[in-house]
Amino acid sequence: MLILPSFLIDEPGKPPNVEWGVRVVGDQIATVAPNAELRRAYPDDETWDATGQTLSPGFVNTHTHLYGVLAHGIPLDRAPSDFWAFLKDFWWRLVEDRLDHDMICAATDHGCVEMLRSGVTSFYDCLEAPHALPGCLAAQAAIVHARGLRGILSFEATERVSQANGQLGLRENVECIRAARGLVSGMMCFHTTFTCSADFIRQAFDLARENNALVHAHVSEGTHEPEYALNHFGMRPIEYYDHLGVACDKMLASQCVQISAREIELMARRGVRMSHMPLSNCEVGGGIAPVPDLLTAGVTVGLGSDGYINDFFEVMRGAFLIHKAHRQDPRVMPANQVWYLATEGGARALDLKNVGRLAPGWQADLQLIDSQFPTPAAVHNLYDQLVLYRNHAHVRAVMIAGQTRVRDGVVLGVDEDAVRARTRAAASRLWAT
Ligand SMILES: [Zn+2]
Repeated sequence: MLILPSFLIDEPGKPPNVEWGVRVVGDQIATVAPNAELRRAYPDDETWDATGQTLSPGFVNTHTHLYGVLAHGIPLDRAPSDFWAFLKDFWWRLVEDRLDHDMICAATDHGCVEMLRSGVTSFYDCLEAPHALPGCLAAQAAIVHARGLRGILSFEATERVSQANGQLGLRENVECIRAARGLVSGMMCFHTTFTCSADFIRQAFDLARENNALVHAHVSEGTHEPEYALNHFGMRPIEYYDHLGVACDKMLASQCVQISAREIELMARRGVRMSHMPLSNCEVGGGIAPVPDLLTAGVTVGLGSDGYINDFFEVMRGAFLIHKAHRQDPRVMPANQVWYLATEGGARALDLKNVGRLAPGWQADLQLIDSQFPTPAAVHNLYDQLVLYRNHAHVRAVMIAGQTRVRDGVVLGVDEDAVRARTRAAASRLWAT
């Protein structure tokens, strides 16, 4: 099949090509060339005329909590006063501890549809539901398979409920990693330095190594964790992970809001990957992650929604704007860099091979975005036009591994009203428990 757009972003971050397209064969990109050349060389191919649209790699959401949608609008007595209160009085008690399989499955299906609508083709999910063990990841995996996304699933193992519950969480991850098939795979995951012992953390890394998987942890989302680590271990969280011998290129650290210059240097030296969530950092009052410094240091960074605001264009706008305000410098985080982080950067952070670019031999994970702006789109402004003035409603088509999942803005094979109704019923049940 030939896809012939007005603009092609084949290598995210680099200038787009005008009137270039791709030829898709099976699950891969076979050829990248000018549209006219493709038409000439492959006259018998099915042709997808995408005039007025931009063809780009699909977005990679490097950190979400699909169940998080169930907490959107949940009644609260009062707003949490800080990050620790957010976890203890709100998220753990009212959300995580009440989740069951039916709620998780409803939210997972809704999340898959929402991601497809917003151009996301790959994602990493972190499920936090200590009383839904075991079997919750297998239930999620079945849904992700059916919707056709490239998904990495994990359960956030924690000893905060009990040591036995922590072990169940680790086992859930191992089983998910070993059950990988098609586009769905697993990752090892534990919570933080303040809910997991040193032995437990080492065990998580050992199990990941045995099963050739990455390990995810939330790191210093607010000031609570660095203060805890300094009080209990005499060092900051990334320094503590290094002290335990686990800070390495198999670690994906999400958030990293309250980290020091020395921690940034350690992350770069050890190859620790990072997931940046500009919008949810605001939600919990955690602060602003030093992403420009992490990028300068050479850390591999991707973007994530954290299950909070899932339209990936909004996440990109957050990453584009928040650091300019914080640094009082409009030059930081230019649009082409943000687009790179949302695509190839995210794929690298998740260790997805041949995902994130449109080049021969790379996966046909792509999206078409309506690019008819009120001012002329051109090579010099396309990334800015897309990052600032588009949203999920402009995503016209999505393909994952060569399979069309969205066409003309419609998610194929899904009754969106039914998915929403099931999610609303699950949320009502969660709020009532
Ligand atoms: Zn998170």
